[in-house]
Amino acid sequence: MINFSQVSKFFAGKAVVRDLNLHIAKGEFTVLIGTSGSGKSTTLKMINRLVEHDRGQITFADEPIEKLRAQDLRRRMGYAIQSIGLFPHWTVEQNIATVPQLLKWPKTKIRDRVTELMELLSLNPEQFRHRYPHQLSGGQQQRVGVARALAADPEVLLMDEPFGALDPVTRATLQKEIARIHQLSGRTIVLVTHDIDEALGLADRIVLLSDGQIVQQGTPLELLTQPATPFVRDFFGRSE
Ligand code: ATP
Ligand code: MG
Repeated sequence: MINFSQVSKFFAGKAVVRDLNLHIAKGEFTVLIGTSGSGKSTTLKMINRLVEHDRGQITFADEPIEKLRAQDLRRRMGYAIQSIGLFPHWTVEQNIATVPQLLKWPKTKIRDRVTELMELLSLNPEQFRHRYPHQLSGGQQQRVGVARALAADPEVLLMDEPFGALDPVTRATLQKEIARIHQLSGRTIVLVTHDIDEALGLADRIVLLSDGQIVQQGTPLELLTQPATPFVRDFFGRSE
């Protein structure tokens, strides 16, 4: 579904992603993990062209992404991140409905979809539909962010540390919800985190980045039991 072939990205002459080869299969839950500054967010943003790659080729459904309009690409890929907040002057309903509005869905269809997503993410529609972001807790705001990313039923869901800065209980709840959404919909998901337990719990496949390169990729079990280098072993810190 998404393919990176020898992809590099430079900022101020310095490669922050180097010769990346990555294949993300349809329906797969891929987690990008690595230390701060290893290139996770840059890699994720190159998928929906929030960052343009400098070398190599990225394809989406076998099409080079530069042939697809960035706008269309972003409608086909939901995107949720921790720090870009919701639109503060819009209600929960309006925030979730951002893309369906752009796509000019009929009002009743939008309303039904918002209700469905709020229920899916355990946000009581009656209670929260007309609230503004500042009237929500952090965890509730994150749920709205995920609901917004899912609203137009995108083929791919991209998430950059969507549960960062949450208490462990809320974080675990949201992780369960994402796992459930993945099971229900079989949607292709790419999630960035530096939380090892999150990666191990959610991923079909983990891609470990260091200094803009892939150190190892494989199933959680493979990375735990067959670390390719001492770095991988230490990163997961699970060996005896
Ligand atoms: P974190 O875990 O801290 O979010 P990350 O793995 O997501 O880190 P990136 O955001 O991809 O890391 O950044 C990779 C490197 O590229 C970093 O050294 C960062 O400073 C640099 N970088 C990212 N965006 C830009 C930019 N717009 N201009 C210049 N340098 C950038
Ligand atoms: Mg990042």
